[in-house]
Amino acid sequence: MGVESKDKIPLLDLARLHAPLEGELLEAFLETLRSGNFIQGPIVEEFEAKLAKSVGVQNVIGVSSGTDALLVSMMALEVEPGDEIITTPYTFFATAGCIARLGARPVFVDIDDNTFNIDPSLVPAAVTEKTVGIIPVHLFGQCVDMDPILETASINGLWVLEDAAQAIGAEYDGKYSGSLGDMGIFSFFPAKNLGALGDGGAVTTNDKRLAEKVRSHRQHGSQNKYKHEDVGGNFRLDSLQAAFLSVKLPHLRSWEDGRRRVATIYNEELKDLENLQLPHEVQKLHHVYNQYVVRSNKRDALARALDSAGIGSAVYYPLPLHLQECFKELGYSAGDFPMSERASKEALALPVDPLLEDQQLQKIIQTIRNLSK
Ligand SMILES: *Cc1c(COP(=O)(O)O)cnc(C)c1O
Repeated sequence: MGVESKDKIPLLDLARLHAPLEGELLEAFLETLRSGNFIQGPIVEEFEAKLAKSVGVQNVIGVSSGTDALLVSMMALEVEPGDEIITTPYTFFATAGCIARLGARPVFVDIDDNTFNIDPSLVPAAVTEKTVGIIPVHLFGQCVDMDPILETASINGLWVLEDAAQAIGAEYDGKYSGSLGDMGIFSFFPAKNLGALGDGGAVTTNDKRLAEKVRSHRQHGSQNKYKHEDVGGNFRLDSLQAAFLSVKLPHLRSWEDGRRRVATIYNEELKDLENLQLPHEVQKLHHVYNQYVVRSNKRDALARALDSAGIGSAVYYPLPLHLQECFKELGYSAGDFPMSERASKEALALPVDPLLEDQQLQKIIQTIRNLSK
């Protein structure tokens, strides 16, 4: 059979998303080109100020990626070898990878089966004398239940670093992700809700001292040229990416509405299918659907059926982090985190493109319904 490429439906169509902004993006490129200033400077500062305002935090520090945002945040928090940091095994690799890169130990806690997010009720039992912090990950665009996490942190004197890479714009009790913990991070990887035209990321914090530490670490631990207070690195956000992000930021809300519109239609049209579990939206959270993730015990068959119909889908994440080769010496084994392991076998992300057309949406829904009959 074979579906013609023009009829294919990718998971996310970035060319279509950017088409209406071509003029503005080109203008941003020319402005940066003509400024002759490509590293740090006013273009980056302007974007940082706009993002700080929209998230409701005192400080935003633009950095080179979401991964580097995690790394540089933990450098500012003075994470040391041997420290234990609690997080979820059901997340993108970077969350735990950055902990390990600093010589610290990721301590995993299983997820809540409904939300795919870390189960806050299991966190207190994971705290030891070596624990220094918690990294809750707002997976797929929905916030972790933060109150009990913040309470556990405050009782035990731990910091909280939000991994909000997938959840820019998501809310918890009326406050934005990235403004809930001591620090937060965003990723501007192109497929995130606010994507650059390349790599980028940001650190958020209301703590002035931590913000200064991040600014220092971003630039080789140096606030004044050739004087180094810390051993940092090159974690800077390109001016060009900051210029593109400033063009895209004002559209974030409307894209989010587009994602939520698609999700609402899936929720309605697929709710009667017995073999399919739809995302669980928690009332007090504003889910921004970076991914619309369903669960099925026939996940692989569903993915294949979608693929033969020319419809994109993706598995986030096929192997939980406690079972990764590189974390073997942490001593975890299969069966340790049953909810995460089950999710890795059942989860499938469907297209939740903000500009998905009705006809495309109907084709996806029909394909899924036909298979589930
Ligand atoms: C994307 C992502 C990151 C890393 O961001 P990059 O910009 O790709 O480095 C970290 N954590 C989570 C949960 C992510 O989804």
